[in-house]
Amino acid sequence: MKRFYITIYKKRVIDYSLHPVLIEVLWILNIQFSKEACPPYYFMYKNGCIMYIYLNPQYVIRNENNCSYIIAKSALITAKLEYAMAFASVVPPSIGYILSHIGEGELNASIENIANTLNIKPDLIDKFIRKIIDNPVKVGWNYKGVTISFPPYLLTSVKEESEGSVYTDNELFYTTDFIPKRPSVPLNLNFMITTQCRTDCMYCYADRNRKNDLTSWQIIKVIDEAHDMGGDLALTGGDIFAFPDWKEVIRKVGQYGFTPLLSTKIPLKEDDIYFLKESGIKFLQFSLDSIFTSTLQTMVRVKEDYIDNVKQMFEYS
Ligand code: SF4
Repeated sequence: MKRFYITIYKKRVIDYSLHPVLIEVLWILNIQFSKEACPPYYFMYKNGCIMYIYLNPQYVIRNENNCSYIIAKSALITAKLEYAMAFASVVPPSIGYILSHIGEGELNASIENIANTLNIKPDLIDKFIRKIIDNPVKVGWNYKGVTISFPPYLLTSVKEESEGSVYTDNELFYTTDFIPKRPSVPLNLNFMITTQCRTDCMYCYADRNRKNDLTSWQIIKVIDEAHDMGGDLALTGGDIFAFPDWKEVIRKVGQYGFTPLLSTKIPLKEDDIYFLKESGIKFLQFSLDSIFTSTLQTMVRVKEDYIDNVKQMFEYS
């Protein structure tokens, strides 16, 4: 977690990450502190700089009638290489609208536009987003008797306009009613794109003899739908790299900003690794049953050069 420190009278050090409320108090008291010491939102906002707020691309907003959902992508891994907990929260449609549209242009203009659409005061929107921008902790509060919560770093502030992290939903019909309910379609899609595999593990129970995989065109159509409905996507097999057109599938997945954890036992080539990187794939899990060739030949029935190819792959990455 990034930490911010303030030094007062050259002695006391205050850790912003532990005292966010204190930061606000200090600002109200007009105590000066350096740019490095304050969170980006406070610094830029209070100094009247143009700034942009974006939905963190690790989250997706799904808007349905009377209800919106905040969904964390499943392949979320922290800097410490820990999986973040799956997160999904139901929020009022007005909040879904704000989160979906806050990234459309410079902050003040966005707030103004949203306020006009929702017919509420811009101050109210400002007050709300202030609680969640660059916030390292989960925030929860009671809204008309329903507890709603917002995950860490849901909104992030930047100085420059950026592309690709604006999440909108043209299908959203904004209503003032908030009716918490189960989503109409699943929040996450676990998509087995192939049953094929290149290894032959002795413990395998998958039906690898099926020859009726979907075509790449059909798979992409499902991915289009997953994107349109707003949610997360996981890809599995067999081994997805045994699917002949896997690059076509990955390209589409990357274009939509999905970051699935891909798991394989196939040693990939150098250009495959670069392709994955350029497509925005961040997580690749390689499952190695043994480092001994004889064991590998027995357990996963691979050729003698398998382990060398695996080592070579890790050189590339
Ligand atoms: S990698 Fe998985 S699907 Fe492939 S043979 Fe082994 S257990 Fe079966």
